[in-house]
Amino acid sequence: MNSFTYTRATTLETAVQDKASAELAKFIAGGTNLTDLMKVNVEGPNHLIDIRQLALKDITDNADGGLRLGALATNADTAYHEQVAKRYPLLAKAILAGASAQLRNMATNGGNILQRTRCYYFYDTATACNKREPGSGCAALSGFNRIHAILGASEHCIAVHPSDMAIALAALEANVNVTGQQGNRTIPFSDFHRLPGDAPHLDNTLQPDEIITSIDLPAKGFAQHHAYLKLRDRESYAFALVSVAAGLEMDGDTITEARIALGGVAHKPWRNREAEDLLTGKSATEENFKLAAAEIMREAKGYEHNSFKIELGKRAIMRALEQAVKMSNKPDSHFHRTSTEPV
Ligand code: SF4
Repeated sequence: MNSFTYTRATTLETAVQDKASAELAKFIAGGTNLTDLMKVNVEGPNHLIDIRQLALKDITDNADGGLRLGALATNADTAYHEQVAKRYPLLAKAILAGASAQLRNMATNGGNILQRTRCYYFYDTATACNKREPGSGCAALSGFNRIHAILGASEHCIAVHPSDMAIALAALEANVNVTGQQGNRTIPFSDFHRLPGDAPHLDNTLQPDEIITSIDLPAKGFAQHHAYLKLRDRESYAFALVSVAAGLEMDGDTITEARIALGGVAHKPWRNREAEDLLTGKSATEENFKLAAAEIMREAKGYEHNSFKIELGKRAIMRALEQAVKMSNKPDSHFHRTSTEPV
């Protein structure tokens, strides 16, 4: 691990200035991904700016009826927050499907959506990886690519985004608020993460001097009809092979609005507006779900070890939509911290 200097930021302004003044500086909050990457020499910041003292932990109502999630609120405090659990259970379920209780207690909302891919080769500095070292190649293309992308990949990178929370935020059409030397701006969630193209080292559209301050949830939370379905190799503490965040607005048996976001299949949370439009105004039937699933996977491309994800993805979409239709909005016991869960 490289040596580095360390400071604690006490204001947003000094955090931004400090970051801008050192090219290899990094913000650190929960540190649950960054410290792992530093230990294996994938990240080598020469300066760490600890932002945990910044006043960005609150979860508050927005004037438009939505909810603002502080960037430094922990994943656990967000998932268990009364208003999140009640109005945005899709988000709470997605957060609780990720990581472990201990990690969720440390990881922050801003850090969650900034976490980096878990591609094995990205973590292995003995292999070629365009994301870690631009221009070096992509070992996953001819390697073991079981966990890799089937949608939106490029010849330069086939990695997937690992976050569960981000998939729900994509379905909810959240907005990411950031601040930097040029001032404040708001990034629609669909524009926050990037596809790899010929620059896979860039995961998102955040500028180097910018810091996430909060994430805004619109008023519509799909609390009545939603599902987060995560399919993985083991029941807990594993990343998704395929995940689906589904939100439906229903009028009787008719779907009046559909949102479907997929995880584990692309470099960013994957939305397909054509497929969602296919369901709008239609009955909630297996046949219509099948059509939507086929549309979402129409351009999917498998590699040697991950073609199974195409059929798995179709089935997961159909099952998530069925679950969203049938769900009742009873309180979910998962939204209550247990007496054995660390806080
Ligand atoms: Fe690197 Fe992306 Fe290839 Fe993985 S898939 S080895 S992250 S370039």
